[in-house]
Amino acid sequence: MSESVQAEQVSQRTSNLSVLLRALRRAPRSRSQLAKQSGLYKATVSNLVTELADRGLVRPAGLRAGGHGRPSQLVELRGESAYGLALSIEADGFAALTIDLAGATLIQRSVPADVAALGLDSGMDELAALAEVVCEGLDGPPIGVTISVPGLVDTDCQVLRFAPALRWRDAGLADLLAARLGIGLAGITVENEANLGAFAEVLAGAGAGVRELFYLSGGIGVGGGLVSGGILLRGARGFAGEIGHITVDPLGDGCLCGRTGCLETKASFPALLRAAASPPDSLNDPALGVDARVAALRARILGGDQRASAAVHDLGVALSTALSTVVDLVDPEVLVLGGYFAGLAEWLVEPIRITLAARTTGPGRRCRVLASPLGTSAALLGAAHLATERLFADPTLAPAASDRDPSENGRELGELSAASSQASTEVSL
Ligand SMILES: [Zn+2]
Repeated sequence: MSESVQAEQVSQRTSNLSVLLRALRRAPRSRSQLAKQSGLYKATVSNLVTELADRGLVRPAGLRAGGHGRPSQLVELRGESAYGLALSIEADGFAALTIDLAGATLIQRSVPADVAALGLDSGMDELAALAEVVCEGLDGPPIGVTISVPGLVDTDCQVLRFAPALRWRDAGLADLLAARLGIGLAGITVENEANLGAFAEVLAGAGAGVRELFYLSGGIGVGGGLVSGGILLRGARGFAGEIGHITVDPLGDGCLCGRTGCLETKASFPALLRAAASPPDSLNDPALGVDARVAALRARILGGDQRASAAVHDLGVALSTALSTVVDLVDPEVLVLGGYFAGLAEWLVEPIRITLAARTTGPGRRCRVLASPLGTSAALLGAAHLATERLFADPTLAPAASDRDPSENGRELGELSAASSQASTEVSL
């Protein structure tokens, strides 16, 4: 047999292992159910399930009563067999999360910080220290690491090109983290936070099962993530979806990006708070965090504060203007308001929906506008799922029992698997 034919068969087997492991992500299945769902022969499925079990990724899960014949043995994902590490860098702090293979949260921590003032080197020191904290006590290294950032990421080389809110440019974040943790680069992915938010919404949020979706992320900046045909679209260099720097007011304020009147100058969280209250009002105190200040703003609107109401009304107008353009361009089935926008959904969803529906041409009339159920944690959750996605894409990253070195138990974080597969943001499951 030629080497190329052998390689093709190995690759097809890996692909089939991946299909079955993904099918088990939703619920336990019998071999017959897996065969029906995957289109593979039942004998092939049995063979592949044996390999997944040998790699420690699945286990028996009781019996399923059959309609007529014998009850069949169910197989389930072994959630504790691996975990993914998500790290998030925002202008106002760092966050870290570990999830197991079944998607259950293991440990989550966050640290408030003025990241722009810290600078790149000290910022990455803080992030690495937080990574050590959430991985402490877990079995072995993470199967993958994803770093979420509020800026433009060159995904070919995992470099953050520009994050206005952090004031970081051309930062090789994967290299910097790998050096601090003493790990290989292969399992580290750097991704834009809005793209990760979109990924999380399609997996487990407002867009579950939706294949055409635009996700709008509101935070210190404003970003967008686009899923089309079930796949996250990045554009030629990974910069697609940068809705925050669409011009909505050519005579407006200067933006951190150097241009004038960008959506971000009107719809970023700091811009909204400046419109809602003048410093030294507590709404403008970053130490309180985003969620607490959204709750305080809501209380003011409900209490009849006219300035707060007007600020959120103007926010809705700015978002409607930008989203009308987006909807005409990409025709999404669902538009998700994420980040801090989700906490103000009762004053934003309806005005945006009415603006889109009033357009007599284009696809806006049929587009559903929904608030994200994941709120400000969507990007971190998406990052965690992308980290474990690496193993779903290539289950052979988990060593087979026959190949496993008994001394591997208790490996340090620094020994992250050196296998070269990158996580994929193909979101169809
Ligand atoms: Zn801008």
